[in-house]
Amino acid sequence: MNAQRTFELLIDGVGVKGEKHYPVINPATEEIIAQAPDATRAQLDAAVAAARRAFAAWKATPIAERQAKVAAMGAAIAAHIEELKRLLTAEQGKNLADAELDVGGGAYFCRQFAELTPPVEVHEDSKARRSATYRVPLGVVCAIAPWNYPVSIAIWKVAPALVAGNCVVLKPSPFTPLTTLRIAALVRGIFPPGVFNVLSGGDELGPWMTGHSGFDKISFTGSTATGRRVMASAAPTLKRLTLELGGNDAAIVLAGVDVQTAAEQVFRAAFTNSGQVCMATKRVYVHSQVYEAFAAAMVELANKATVGDGSKPGTDFGPIQNRPQYDRVKELIADCRANGYRFLCGGDAQTPARGYFIPLTLIDNPPENSRIVREEQFGPVLPLLRFDDLDAAVQKANDTHYGLGGSVWGPPEQAEAVAHRLDTGMVWVNEFGSMAPGQPFGGRKQSGFGVENGMAGLLEFTTIHTIVTSKKLGAA
Ligand code: NAD
Repeated sequence: MNAQRTFELLIDGVGVKGEKHYPVINPATEEIIAQAPDATRAQLDAAVAAARRAFAAWKATPIAERQAKVAAMGAAIAAHIEELKRLLTAEQGKNLADAELDVGGGAYFCRQFAELTPPVEVHEDSKARRSATYRVPLGVVCAIAPWNYPVSIAIWKVAPALVAGNCVVLKPSPFTPLTTLRIAALVRGIFPPGVFNVLSGGDELGPWMTGHSGFDKISFTGSTATGRRVMASAAPTLKRLTLELGGNDAAIVLAGVDVQTAAEQVFRAAFTNSGQVCMATKRVYVHSQVYEAFAAAMVELANKATVGDGSKPGTDFGPIQNRPQYDRVKELIADCRANGYRFLCGGDAQTPARGYFIPLTLIDNPPENSRIVREEQFGPVLPLLRFDDLDAAVQKANDTHYGLGGSVWGPPEQAEAVAHRLDTGMVWVNEFGSMAPGQPFGGRKQSGFGVENGMAGLLEFTTIHTIVTSKKLGAA
């Protein structure tokens, strides 16, 4: 569809052609749909230099103007949602409705951040002195996004960074650069040159960026393994960091739950975007009193769902986004087979002629130390784990180096009490995935640190500037 279409980098307010290119693959067809620019180190240097030049004036721009421009960015995204969602489905694989949610989420979060102003905290305002802390921007932000929600996750970084007065260089995942590059073209005229730059590239570009001395802050979303490398490369110049990393979120289903409703919601929590969601439910601990009924309801939902090309009407779940991740999910399925775990449904990869498709797969009570329980699968393969002792289930849910999210299902008071015992940044009780405007989102343990969304997310792109003024010494 886009094989002949040209995508450009955004550097210093102008579209810049790539000197080299690499192919972008549609994961449903394995066809090359476009060539994306593969930014060179010189182009990175140019983008960083442009951002540094632009910083002083952008920082001095009244915040209302910066907010208006970020709102305009949201409006530009919203105005092109039909085109953008189709492009996103083609490169990412998710169905068109989910693509609309990702693109629409980008527009929505632009509007949300455009309404936020960092507070001024007055500590003392007496006859003797005034002491107040202001929030000022950090400088130039390196924003790095993953391939599962390319638009929303990028905007969670770009919008607050710009509102706070920083300049930004954004890098989408090499697997999903096109929608981001198209948005860059759409918003080109909104910001002064250099304020917002977008570079796509291959595997070298990320490390070049995180090691670049021209950045003051890195906001990174991706795997925990890459997060460790990002943190190491930030050390030499002490760049500020926000790391939104992997998760192995547990759902705990209590006895006394409304089985059918909980199954429907946990099914959505686990399989949305074919399981490729950081905060997806990746393990489900189910009380033995309801285990059989819950498992049966989940199997029924899985068997009714349609896995296929996200651009086709009626598709509920698309393919795995890229070949390395597809191979990894297949390897986890093979590990379950090799160890003799029982499959309630799914299992063997469907073998259409093309496409990275995996059927929705449920594994019946594998051991706690199995790979499918211990590792982040990031795909549509879900272990159901039977428990009798709630304390033991909570202990197992917490027995991981991840700490991103989780959910609890059952009688509300009891479920909320369990929620307080989960060592994660987010817990949903009898619902899943809601993101209220002011609600901060972030992980604990090796799921990262720092937060996104809401005022707390905005403040991540600022530093303190405390000014103490004596009122005793007046003018001469
Ligand atoms: P990834 O870590 O492979 O890549 C993420 C981004 O980092 C990409 O843009 C990639 O090009 C870049 N990158 C790779 N190596 C780099 C390096 N050495 N230095 C700098 N940048 C580098 O992750 P992914 O496979 O794109 O995304 C899936 C992972 O992201 C999962 O673990 C998922 O849980 C996590 N994730 C977390 C959140 C969250 O908010 N916590 C949200 C979405 C995804």
